[in-house]
Amino acid sequence: MLTLSQAIDIVNNRRNLAELKALQNLEKLREDKIFSQMEIELRQLSFEIAKREALNADLGDLKERFTDCEIQFKKKIQELGYTPKDIKPRYFCKRCGDKGFIDGKRCVCLENLILNSIKSNCGKLETDIDDFNKVDFDIFGDAYKKGYKNTYKQLHKYAEKFPDVIPYLLLMGSTGTGKSFMCSVVSNVMMKKGYTVLFLNSCELNELFLKYHLADIALKGDIIYPVYQCDLLVIDDLGMENIYKNVTVPYLYSLIINRRQKHTIITTNLSHSQIAERYDFRISSRLMDKNLTINVPVLGEDLRLKKR
Ligand SMILES: [Zn+2]
Repeated sequence: MLTLSQAIDIVNNRRNLAELKALQNLEKLREDKIFSQMEIELRQLSFEIAKREALNADLGDLKERFTDCEIQFKKKIQELGYTPKDIKPRYFCKRCGDKGFIDGKRCVCLENLILNSIKSNCGKLETDIDDFNKVDFDIFGDAYKKGYKNTYKQLHKYAEKFPDVIPYLLLMGSTGTGKSFMCSVVSNVMMKKGYTVLFLNSCELNELFLKYHLADIALKGDIIYPVYQCDLLVIDDLGMENIYKNVTVPYLYSLIINRRQKHTIITTNLSHSQIAERYDFRISSRLMDKNLTINVPVLGEDLRLKKR
């Protein structure tokens, strides 16, 4: 994942390269004596014009001479096999000239670099929809439409208030009711807002725990770092993974305890009592605690069966 300073480095590199290329072209052109003289003449003329303008003095025919000289200069550049654009830096971003900032604010080019890096690290999402108003409710049967609208409304509110919301959100509902899709929308909305998101299904997370467990101590940090550091972690379909002894339950518990300063969304088709039974009562009690977890039941139909 790119940090802000790494993204700034990329933008600076773009600028340096664009300016270097322009300078290299100029140096090549300067090997031509006439070009060199013309360049000096143009510079002197423009300096003289600026000086006289500052003093409110008469410009005489300076402006005409400058224009003539400029036309000749451009002709010369073309004669030598270049275009006038070749001696100006071709910035990747025309808005900020590859500075990354405009009036102290991050330019879109810098934001996009960070966003694309966040996206490439996020995991597999079920949709690109990044706006709650673009969710199509017509795919749901009439009996469930109202329920779905209500669920999405809660998620929309959550996303709007983020990060000023309590740390856990638990989406409970049976298989195929569209929980992963909902979380994908939330993830896209968050990434659009510039937050780092990691979307893992419980099996992927479990494999990561195992990898961490077995890894050399020097490598452990890198493996688990994104899971702890991302602004929003989505654990999709908790309960689908195998239980590895000494791995799955303790690491999940540790993750849930330690991500209290960050935000985590969990989807599952398990009930609270099933969670307590499968993992640990300490995990399920946290997920039942209204001060720590928003419980959102998803009462829906199996949309996968419907599609067939
Ligand atoms: Zn820019």
